[in-house]
Amino acid sequence: MTNPLLTNSLTQQTLKNTVNCVGIGLHSGKNVSMVIHPAEANSGINFVRKDVSPGKGFITGRWYNVVDTKMSTTIGNEYGVTLQTVEHLFAALKGCGIDNALIEVDGPEVPIMDGSSAPFVDVLLNAGIEDQKEDRNIIWIQRPIEYRNGDKYAILMPGSSSKFTAEIQFDNTIIGTNVCSFDLSHDDFRNNMSRARTFGFADEINSLIEVGLIKGGSLTNAIVVDGEEILNEDGLRFKNEFARHKVLDCIGDFALVGYQILGSYYAKKPGHELNHQFIKALLNNRSAWSYISLRDYNDMFGIKYAGKNHNEQLHKSQAVYK
Ligand SMILES: [Zn+2]
Repeated sequence: MTNPLLTNSLTQQTLKNTVNCVGIGLHSGKNVSMVIHPAEANSGINFVRKDVSPGKGFITGRWYNVVDTKMSTTIGNEYGVTLQTVEHLFAALKGCGIDNALIEVDGPEVPIMDGSSAPFVDVLLNAGIEDQKEDRNIIWIQRPIEYRNGDKYAILMPGSSSKFTAEIQFDNTIIGTNVCSFDLSHDDFRNNMSRARTFGFADEINSLIEVGLIKGGSLTNAIVVDGEEILNEDGLRFKNEFARHKVLDCIGDFALVGYQILGSYYAKKPGHELNHQFIKALLNNRSAWSYISLRDYNDMFGIKYAGKNHNEQLHKSQAVYK
């Protein structure tokens, strides 16, 4: 499949139709239902918790609303209403090039699905992608930005595409040390990135269950590593699925910036906390980047946009995957 290049569209995009998605909440263990609606240009990705008092459930899906990064990325609003595990949905939206959507959720967390972004990508592509008239704006990195926290480190370098690299280092020999890179501007998100699942360790899982967390966790929504063994019968989807999933998390966390990043992000031992702290450092370092439309950037560098026929390509890719 060729990349539909939805991430390179010069104009903003939303969904063609409203779609539904139901799945289990990782922590509550209860079914969560989501309805994803098209939304106006420049509105971004926003959520409404339908299970709280009317008028209190709206949460803007942006980095400044991140309230917790311990197990997953959680966003919240001024009423203390929160929504957990948003990162894999955000990665799917970013990978499908969707700038604007309104998402209704009837519980405190986004469903975990299979622990990857792939089920969300299927739902979004089934809804169809609609071009909007307004230009898409980007954050164009012009100077390197670094952030260090103990043995965790991240740097964002200038670059002509939107690239993410994660380096993992685990004592466990199954996971080990591994590096994975993905370029949102050129690579095939659906095939090569969206299917990478989250992972956990059998011994840690038991202690989390004891304190009332991950009631919905199972081998159907995570890779579980027990010592030097993978408990999932079918094994891994990719040889480097662990590092690949860390890249997916980076893409999801960076989607909360609200604009595509034009630059190359490298993170050593990344997690949601490192990504979030990095994003804060980035946006506070105003001299390191410019805010510009992708159209103006391309004009400035004589780059021809090759994705105008993306809807056609998308249909082809859907045909292949049916
Ligand atoms: Zn994840």
